Amino acid sequence: MFHSARLKLTTWYLLIIMFISAFFSILIFHEVSLELERGFRRVELRHHAQDLGLHLPRRFSLRKEDLRPELQDIAPRFLFVDDLEDAKHALIFRLFMVNGIILVVSAVASYVMAGKTLAPIERAMEEQKRFVADASHELRTPLTALKTSIEVALRDKRLSRKQAKNVLKDNLNDIDHLTELSQKLLHLSRLQQGVNPNFSKVNLSKVIKNSVMKIKPLAKEKQIEIKTDLTSCEIKAQPEQIQEMLTLFLDNAIKYTPQKGKVFVSLTKQKKQAVIKIRDTGIGISEDHLPRIYDRFYRIDSARVKDKVDGFGLGLSLAKKIIKAHKGTVKVQSKVGKGTTFTITLPL
Ligand code: ADP
Repeated sequence: MFHSARLKLTTWYLLIIMFISAFFSILIFHEVSLELERGFRRVELRHHAQDLGLHLPRRFSLRKEDLRPELQDIAPRFLFVDDLEDAKHALIFRLFMVNGIILVVSAVASYVMAGKTLAPIERAMEEQKRFVADASHELRTPLTALKTSIEVALRDKRLSRKQAKNVLKDNLNDIDHLTELSQKLLHLSRLQQGVNPNFSKVNLSKVIKNSVMKIKPLAKEKQIEIKTDLTSCEIKAQPEQIQEMLTLFLDNAIKYTPQKGKVFVSLTKQKKQAVIKIRDTGIGISEDHLPRIYDRFYRIDSARVKDKVDGFGLGLSLAKKIIKAHKGTVKVQSKVGKGTTFTITLPL
């Protein structure tokens, strides 16, 4: 599909270039022909003036009424008409040659340019296709599990009321899980299309405090202490997105930190950046996994965590997209068994 689009675009580029080139060639031919005719006529008149023993200045008007009477009857005639025609033919030949070269060079250039023009569209389409494939794969697995559990329950003739209730409870959990997944997917797809650029002034320390408050009940369950050290600072951003991004990092910090661990959140100003650090004393991430943690649906084997940790592998991918939309950066440092630090910078 993209190859034929590239060829079509190349043809259009080429047509435009050749139209412009042909237009200017005709213009050049017209102007140069006029100039040649004038030049030839001057030579002719000078030639006759010499025969008559007259001297003509370097520049003189060709208008009949401006010429000396002795030369006036010669002016309308053309003596070197064949030479003039030859010169015009040579000019046409040269213009054709130049147009031929332009055709070849611009065909190559147009093909390259068409490729460059279409490359981001092709990448976006590929990304979209991968997204749809990933999303349908992720949705299919829990849906199949849900269907199987309902079918098994229906087939069981001795299913008691209590057992049926338990099955329904599990199904409800699965549906909640699916709803959360589809919401995250929808959010991700919206972010993929870009964030509304109408940013407002955001008190970052306040947003961080809110996110910490939100996550505190989870931390309390695991007896994890959250310490904050926040400098007051303002940025231009979408407050809901920033809050969500921070919650995603904090949620992970709690999820991947064992009981009685610690989480530190700091906010400082450095040059023209607000720097947020979220450090935990959790299980850490090994070096070979680090480059892939922001990939969609990427999850590190949860066998390394004592209690099974819920997740879709979408959190960091979402967070990174939000940071990118705010022209910020995110870096991670981690040591297995010691903890992880995410450093987020956002322009002030
Ligand atoms: P998930 O829903 O699995 O948490 P994320 O995209 O948020 O998905 O994270 C991707 C993976 O990165 C997680 O599965 C986890 O293994 C790892 N990870 C993220 N944050 C941390 C952290 N603070 N400590 C240890 N591992 C982490």
